[in-house]
Amino acid sequence: MEYYFIAHAKNKNSYEIAKFSEYKEPDSVWTLRDEKRIVCDCPGAWRRRTCRHMKLFNFWKKNLDSQIGMALWFDGDDIEYKRMFDFKQVNTLLEAV
Ligand SMILES: [Zn+2]
Repeated sequence: MEYYFIAHAKNKNSYEIAKFSEYKEPDSVWTLRDEKRIVCDCPGAWRRRTCRHMKLFNFWKKNLDSQIGMALWFDGDDIEYKRMFDFKQVNTLLEAV
């Protein structure tokens, strides 16, 4: 199963979204900027101006109040989530990248 974590990045209004599958290390990490509109630096977002990360980010912000430590994943077109880690564990994971 693939799931995603979102955490605050060092820069203001920036967030990191990490995708995990079966390994402890993330498969990929992208940066989202939340300014006038949300911008993701993944290749998919370049061409289509939207991507899975932006969808997850919007869901996280609106429905989960930007809580750290939530694992999110897609179930078809729906987004599911559950709490998995505490704040420190997620930051440690992201810093290890
Ligand atoms: Zn993206």
